[in-house]
This record gives sequence, structure tokens and C-alpha cells, in this order.
Amino acid sequence: MKEHQPKILSGKPAAPGIGVGTAWLLPEEKKAVRPDKIKKQELEKHIRKFEKARDFLTIEYEKIKDISDDYETAEIIDAQIQVLHDPEVKSSIEKKIRIEKYTAEYSIFSTFNEYIQLLQAAGAKWANERMIDIVSIRDEMIEATREKKQEFDVRQGQVVFASDISPTNMVKLSHIKIGGIVMKKGGFTSHAVILSQSLGIPCVINANWDRLNLKNDNEVIIDGSTGQVILWPSWKQTDEYRKRRQDEISRNEKSLKWALKANHTICGHPFVLRANVEFLEELPRLDTHGAKGIGLLRTETLLFETEEFNVNDQVQFYKSVALACEDHSVTIRLFDAGGDKIIENNEFESNPFLGWRGVRMLLDKKGLLRKQLEAIYRVSGEFPGKLKILIPMVSRLEEIIAVKQVCKDIQMFLKKESVAFDDKLKIGVMVEVPSIALTAGRISKYCDFFSIGTNDLTQYTLAVDRGNEKISYLFDSFHPAIWKLIKMTKDAADRQGIPVTVCGEMASKPEAAACFLGMGISELSMNTASIPAVKSVLCSHSKIDMEKLASEVIKAETLKEIHELLQPWRAI
Ligand code: PEP
Ligand code: MG
Repeated sequence: MKEHQPKILSGKPAAPGIGVGTAWLLPEEKKAVRPDKIKKQELEKHIRKFEKARDFLTIEYEKIKDISDDYETAEIIDAQIQVLHDPEVKSSIEKKIRIEKYTAEYSIFSTFNEYIQLLQAAGAKWANERMIDIVSIRDEMIEATREKKQEFDVRQGQVVFASDISPTNMVKLSHIKIGGIVMKKGGFTSHAVILSQSLGIPCVINANWDRLNLKNDNEVIIDGSTGQVILWPSWKQTDEYRKRRQDEISRNEKSLKWALKANHTICGHPFVLRANVEFLEELPRLDTHGAKGIGLLRTETLLFETEEFNVNDQVQFYKSVALACEDHSVTIRLFDAGGDKIIENNEFESNPFLGWRGVRMLLDKKGLLRKQLEAIYRVSGEFPGKLKILIPMVSRLEEIIAVKQVCKDIQMFLKKESVAFDDKLKIGVMVEVPSIALTAGRISKYCDFFSIGTNDLTQYTLAVDRGNEKISYLFDSFHPAIWKLIKMTKDAADRQGIPVTVCGEMASKPEAAACFLGMGISELSMNTASIPAVKSVLCSHSKIDMEKLASEVIKAETLKEIHELLQPWRAI
């Protein structure tokens, strides 16, 4: 007899696939620090915990100093490091552990609180500012003491349940073959969802299990195609879903046969499908799924990884990617941190999607931008004509000019150092902010290609936060305004004679891909999992039919009309 009755949790389907396994609940942050006492034999363990946390934080602070390029930040961080190693702080924490027998967490907490009280008593303005720093050291140190990182003990095949998944956690999950992801939050083009699709992980969003007393290792089933999650399934259900999963695997294998077909329409018109990639783990899928190189290499992972951040690490990453793409090109997008791709320790913004992201951040952090460009140019020397650079979140021409200036500086620097690089490396612009689509004619004179990011273009044009589950029904990239902006971009690019690609999620919908081809956009980039289905539709129709479709879609006035026009073009 099972302890629980099966319970169906309904969410929204976000990435297809079936997972049968056990639950793993992503720990929510715990903030309270209790004055717990420890036993005599635990003293040394807690002293070591404190020392480990202090050393870990010191390395973290050094890393932040490395990627920040202004003198003031470096000074503040140096002061933080000094506090970490202050002999009085050390002896107070050790005393609380050894003599008063408090846990490492509480000893840190109360030592820093005493420090804060002293500052409060001083009352001066400088003391107030200092206090904020001390509070943050205290909290970061407590977190480090809790060794949150070691709590990340999810096993292969487990289904992860999380309120939301941060980019840092997604990076960690990408290294483990998990069975699925169930989230309370998330929109269809949120970062975690895109990554699940790309990695082939079933994903359900907008599901809530708060009142269900779900525990780690409880049995669960996730169906990413219907949005259903079964908690405590019966034997019969488990059996049935295992069979379904097997069927799905053989269906996927069948659809993979399209990956081997030549890339042209039934009438012989060629097209190119590339992959959107973020992790090295995705590279083996390029070949099996028929991707011709990478049309969008998201590089934010390099910022989220906890390892040391430097030019050499980046060089290794870009090299591995370039090698995996054989003769095909790789478009490297510059760091697009911000929005839902928030770097830890970033300042709080009340509206991050309209805030300090993409090129805006890069131009403020020129040290970071220089390091990334230096790494790309260094690698380009080994692969002439293969790499391209893509600038994210551009909203005005000045940003392109400024980035190109940094590219020139890097080229000069490398020339002086006698380092070989590709001096014809193409620089493209993401068209994902309406201002760029609207002025595409002017912008096209300053770049080598456009790549349309329909995820952000949709959110900024329709004023719909792409990660907000409450309004996800309003997020529809097929809106007439989006087609219009895409058409404007394509026309402007044609007048200037520069190529246009689409790399947003819209390209992964076969019916939209057919319409793009009809508009003359014959290079698309998408999550690898979608390539076979897109290819099956493009290979089975003629260019002339796609042109007819495109002209009708452009003329259509309502979303309903557009959906009706596109419906017959869904995957076969
Ligand atoms: C987009 O906005 O469409 C895009 C491809 O970029 P990202 O999803 O990484 O913001
Ligand atoms: Mg974008």
C-alpha cells in the first residue's frame, strides 16, 4: 500500500518530454540564524567551517575585483577583504565557538552584529555606509558557512521542483542529467525554460505544490508536453508513462532522420539552420540534430560559473565551441547579463528587463568587455572567417559605435603583441529592441549583419514581461506588430545588402520558420531540439508557397487571423 494517493498538479507545458523519477526540491534560502550550541567534539569542525567560509569569500571578492574595472569598486572590495581578515573579528568568532560553544554561523552573526552596533553608536554618515558593507559581509559569510553549494545534491534522473531557477543554479543543473524541471514561476521565454528546451529537459511552469507536502525522493512523473505533473503516481501510471517515454524516444529518433536530409525546400531553395547554444554539454547535439554551426552562442554562463574568470578560460571555451562546429560559423554574443540573467552580487533593480543589461552593462564595465573581445579575437586567429560577434540589447546607434571602438583598441593591442587575429571578423547587432527595428536603415550602415531576437522584441514591443506567469497569455510573438518590425528590418537590411537571421524562440516554431523563409530570411538559429521538426516542414514545402504565406501574414490584421494562416504549417 502506498503512503500517498496520486495527485495531479497542473501547470503549463514549457519544454516537451516525459520524466519518471523522484522529486528533488531546490532549497529555498534560509535567513534565520539561531543561537544553537555545539558539543565539545564539534568545536574544531566549526572553526574549520568559519575558516573555509572566510577563504571562499576572499576568493569570491578577488574575482569581483578582477571583473570590475573601476578604482572605487576595487577599493571597497579591498576594504571588505580586510574586514574578513581583521584579527579582532577572527578572535571574537573563535572565542564564541571555542568558549561560548556557539555554531560557526551564530558566532559570525553575533560578532558582526556587535561590530554593527558599534558603528551605529558612532552615528556618523560614513559609519552608515560602512554598516551596509558589514551587513553584506555578515550575510555572505553565513551563506558560505552553510555550504549552500554542497546542498546541491540532486541526482541524475530526479525531477527538480523550484520556485524559480536562477542562472547560476541552471548552470549547475546543466552538468547533471536531471529528469525534469517543475517551476512555480517562469514565462515561456524565461531563461530557465529556453535552457530546458535546449538541453532536452522536460519542463512545466506555473505549477504550485505548496500545500501538498511534497518531499525529496517522493515519486513523481512530469509530462512537459501537457503541463501535467503526477505526484505519488500509482504503479499503473508509472508503467504507462514509462511506455510513453519509450514511444517518445523512438518518435524523436525517427524525427532525427530529418537531420540528415539536405537543407533545401522541396523546390531546391537552400536554407541554413544553426543552433542556439550556451553549454559545452549541448555541443554533441549539433551533429545529431543537423545544426550547421551556432547562430547564437550565449556567453553569460561564463559569468555565472563560480570558477576563476579570465581571458584564458574564455579562450578555452570559444575554442572548444569553434572546434565542435567543424566548417560552420559560430556567432558569439557578447555578455547579455541582466534581465532574468542576473549575475549574483548584482545591484537590485526594480525593473531589470528595462535596466542595466546587455551592451549597457558592457559599456559601463569596459574591463569586462575588453577581456571578452580580447578572448574572441585571440581565438579568431586560429579560425579565420569562422567567428562572428553579436552585440546584445542595443537600443541606439552610439552603443554600436562605442563597441566597435573597443574592438579597434583590442586589435591594436594584439597587433603590438604580435598575436594573430581575424581582421575581417564580422560584427552584428541583435534586433530585439523596437527602436533598432524602427531605425534599421541607419543602423544597417554600421554593422555587418542583423540577428533578430524575437523573445525580447516581443516583450518590449507588446509591453509583456517575458518571465511573468500572470501575463504569459499575452506574450505572443505572432502579433502583427512583431511581423511588421521583422519585415521592416529585413527590407532595411536588403537595401544595405547585409544578411538577417532570426535567433529568438520564434525561429523554432516550424510555421514561423516557413514564414521567415517566405520573407527571404533563410538563415535561422534555434534550440537544437527544434531543428528536426523545423527542417521537416521547410524540406516538405516549396518556396513559392512560403512566400504566399508570408505575404498573407504581413497583411493580416489580427492575431487570430495570423494563427489561422499559420496553423496548417505546424510540424508534420
Ligand atoms: C531574444 O531576445 O530573442 C534572444 C535570442 O536573446 P535572449 O533570449 O538570450 O534574451
Ligand atoms: Mg534577448
